[in-house]
Amino acid sequence: MESNNNIYPWGHSRRFNAYSNYFRNEFGGRVQKLSIDAGFTCPNRDGTAGRGGCTYCNNEAFSPSYCRSTVSISEQIRKGIRFHSRRYRKSVAFLAYFQAYTNTYAPLEELKDKYEEALSHPEVTGVIIGTRPDCVNDDLLDYLAGLSRDYYIAVEYGVESCYDKTLLRINRGHDFSCSVKAIEKTAARGIKTGAHFIFGLPGESREEMLEGAEIISSLPLKTVKFHQLQIIKGTRMADEFMDKPGDFNLFSWDEYREFFIRFLEKLNPEIIVERFTGESKPGLIINEGWGRMRSDELLRAFEQRLEELDTWQGRLHKEKK
Ligand code: SF4
Repeated sequence: MESNNNIYPWGHSRRFNAYSNYFRNEFGGRVQKLSIDAGFTCPNRDGTAGRGGCTYCNNEAFSPSYCRSTVSISEQIRKGIRFHSRRYRKSVAFLAYFQAYTNTYAPLEELKDKYEEALSHPEVTGVIIGTRPDCVNDDLLDYLAGLSRDYYIAVEYGVESCYDKTLLRINRGHDFSCSVKAIEKTAARGIKTGAHFIFGLPGESREEMLEGAEIISSLPLKTVKFHQLQIIKGTRMADEFMDKPGDFNLFSWDEYREFFIRFLEKLNPEIIVERFTGESKPGLIINEGWGRMRSDELLRAFEQRLEELDTWQGRLHKEKK
């Protein structure tokens, strides 16, 4: 793939297909996601898919303070809009982000009530639903496909790794083929389909992570989120790390930046990159290191490095014939 006068195939001069630009094009301005905790649980914690949850998981690490499941969805939305309006530039649209735990893990009627409660708020133009790939079915996807005719509807799957050996080791409770099927079924219905991946999981080499770029590129994904492994206090992974630190191949910032550039060069340019690093609440991470740098600083440094190397997303991507 070649660049054309520094306007890339995604229609702007940034060197990757950035989510913020995509949203600005789609909505004509700034879009704010409102995190919702709708009181769901997780089948990997209650024994349905597994017990104990994914070894790295502690939902406390990423739930903002305004969202607590004892508060109704409508109230969380009201508080979220107030919170964000005080802090940031004016948003042209708000999306309810069903974020905590597994947001499709309930009977369909209950799910409909919850999503529609969010959509009934006059300032909410859509929902983003975070879930596991083993927690969707045809009825739910048909219903979401119907909603997506009138609203912005996206489903985001926690895929985490393309390798079954890793998924087993982190106790995900599903394999990679399960993710592929869920992504294909969702995208085939015209629902915006996203996926989340973690780099640095134990037992996975950097070469394997890099090869993941081609695997991910072949999936019908609209958006992707990546983050470096952050080991959260109080998780099973934290115990494992204390016990056998040599099993972990954690990235320094310089290593991660160079790794992610190589990854991005191979990534399908049509896939929108929502983020490439993760942030958690300070004090919760064992391997704080560069994770304490703010994500906007990291993004600036990353884009500067793309300039220096004169490279961009998809430069080495090969279309599958
Ligand atoms: S990461 Fe998600 S799927 Fe895994 S235990 Fe936590 S809530 Fe459940």
